[in-house]
Amino acid sequence: MSKINKIAVLTSGGDAPGMNPCIRAVVRTGIFHGLQVVGVKQGYQGLINNNMYDMNERSVSNILHLGGTILKTARCMEFKEESGLEKAYQNLKNRGIEGLIVIGGDGTFTGAERFSRIYDIPVIGIPGTIDNDLYGSDFTLGFDTATNTVVEALDKIRDTADAHDRLFFIEVMGRDSGCIALRAGVAGGAEAILLPEKETAIDELIENLKSGSNKKTSSIVIVAEGDKNGGAYDIAKKVKEHVPSYDVKVTILGHLQRGGSPSSFDRVLGSRLGYAAVNALLNGETRKMVGLKGNTIQLAELEEAISTHEFKLEPDLLDMVDILAI
Ligand code: ADP
Repeated sequence: MSKINKIAVLTSGGDAPGMNPCIRAVVRTGIFHGLQVVGVKQGYQGLINNNMYDMNERSVSNILHLGGTILKTARCMEFKEESGLEKAYQNLKNRGIEGLIVIGGDGTFTGAERFSRIYDIPVIGIPGTIDNDLYGSDFTLGFDTATNTVVEALDKIRDTADAHDRLFFIEVMGRDSGCIALRAGVAGGAEAILLPEKETAIDELIENLKSGSNKKTSSIVIVAEGDKNGGAYDIAKKVKEHVPSYDVKVTILGHLQRGGSPSSFDRVLGSRLGYAAVNALLNGETRKMVGLKGNTIQLAELEEAISTHEFKLEPDLLDMVDILAI
C-alpha cells in the first residue's frame, strides 16, 4: 500500500448513467481505507477554478439510482493548454491531493494521461460513456442503461408503427460506435440496423425490408447517428424516393438516451470500477484504466485505451439481425 492520503474524483466529458454509483464507490472505498476524498465539480474546469469540496460517506447517500452526475460534468478547452494544466496542478498541490480518479471517455483520458505525465500525479481512469467505444473494457458505464432506454422507446414506436402499417427510422446515439444501435436493435426486433462500422447500400436496405417471407406491414430501422449514409432523415428520404408507397416516419431519440436511472448492470459496474480504481491508486498504479474484461476487473494502460480502436460489435449479433427479421 502506498502513502497516498488524499485523492480527488471528477466526472468529465459526456455524462452517462452509472457515474453516480461510481462516485459513491470511490468515496466510500477511499474513506474505508482512511483516505480523504475531494469531489471536483464540472470536470477539469473545477480543477482549474478550484471548485472542489471535501466529501464524506453521507455526501453520496441516496444517489445510486440517479442519472447524470452529482459532481456535474463539463467540456473544458482550457485544460488542453499548458496554462490550464498548471493551474489545475497548483490547486491540487495546495490542497494536498496526491491522486486523481477521472470518470469519462477518451477525451477525458487523453487529458488525464497528459496531466499525469507532466506533473507526475497518479491518475486512474474509469470508462464512463454511453457509446461503449473504449478499448480495455467490454462495457463502459452508461451503455447498458442507454440501450435499455432505446429499447423502451422502440417498443412504444413499434405499437404505433404496427397500428398504421408504417416504416420507422429511429436514430440513436453512436457517432463512431454502433454498439447501442446493434444491441437495442436485436433486443427490440428491428428489421434493419445501420451502423457506422458497416456500409449499407440503400438498395440493399430496401431489398432487406421487402424480403420477409410473409410480407410485413410495419418495420423499424435503427440508424446509428454516425452511419455513412447520413442521418435518419436523409436515409428515410432516399428510401421514400425508391419506394413511394412506404408510409415513412422518422424519430430522433437524442439526449433522452443519456438520462434516466442507471440499470442494475450499470450500478454494479460503476460500483466495481470505483472500488477498483481506489484500490489501484493505493497499490501505486498510475496512468491506468480500470475496465471489465470477461466479467473480471482488469487494468489497461491509459495510453493504450486512448490510442487503440477495438471493434466492439458482437459478430453473432451482426449475423443474426437479418435472419431474425424474416
Ligand atoms: P469524453 O471524455 O466523453 O470523450 P471530451 O472529448 O469532450 O469527452 O473530453 C472531455 C475533456 O477532456 C475535454 O473537455 C478536455 O477538458 C479534456 N481533454 C480532451 N482532450 C484533451 C487533450 N488533448 N489535452 C488535455 N485535455 C483534454
